[in-house]
Amino acid sequence: MLAGSVGGLARWAVTDRHGGVSEPPYDRLNLAEHVGDDPPAVAANRARLLAALEGARGVAFMRQVHGRAVTVVAAAPGEPPECDALVTATPGLVLAALVADCVPVLLADPDAGVVAAAHAGREGVRLGVVDATLEVMAALGARATRTRAVLGPAVCPACYEVPQPLRTQVAAVAPAAHAVSRWGTPALDLRAGLAARLAGHGVEVTAVGGCTVETPQLYSFRRDGVTGRFAGLVWLADGRAA
Ligand SMILES: [Zn+2]
Repeated sequence: MLAGSVGGLARWAVTDRHGGVSEPPYDRLNLAEHVGDDPPAVAANRARLLAALEGARGVAFMRQVHGRAVTVVAAAPGEPPECDALVTATPGLVLAALVADCVPVLLADPDAGVVAAAHAGREGVRLGVVDATLEVMAALGARATRTRAVLGPAVCPACYEVPQPLRTQVAAVAPAAHAVSRWGTPALDLRAGLAARLAGHGVEVTAVGGCTVETPQLYSFRRDGVTGRFAGLVWLADGRAA
């Protein structure tokens, strides 16, 4: 697990395959319920995750649909909301974006006490899910110029060949996403596209981790098809829980 802090009590982490109980092809720390894994195994993995996070009291997941909807949560919802970004100002509530090649985008304005987790694949980049997320954060008192973003591991441009019309469509919105694959064919650099969008709002961006396709300890849908999901996580540590 990669982990760090964003000033004050804001924390982020990115999981990998290690430390869970799922059997192949989901081995081992699959955190997604929708990929065909044994539900008790996913529940056990999620419980282990929560126990491993400092100052965490619950984890909010979402039903991701490659859109731009953002949900504000104050507690872990019983049913995951249908959206691609979660925002909270509640200490101890961990926000999770599940991925296997798409980009987990973790945002925090520690001074405002507002954090957000977004799931951004090529549709998310095209539809501006991070822009929508920053708007909702602002409504809760966050400022983009004070906000820091961590972009977790994702498919790299060398591995992410796409049809030319698709590259054109995404690059029209995020020119920095225009890329060429290792085969010299049209490709997308999702993290570069997102980093440029965020920087345009005044957000300070850090990318962590490498390419999912090239990293066996991470799940990659493009590499494996049927597989699990790892998570990008962000939360305001609850000092009382420490
Ligand atoms: Zn790659």
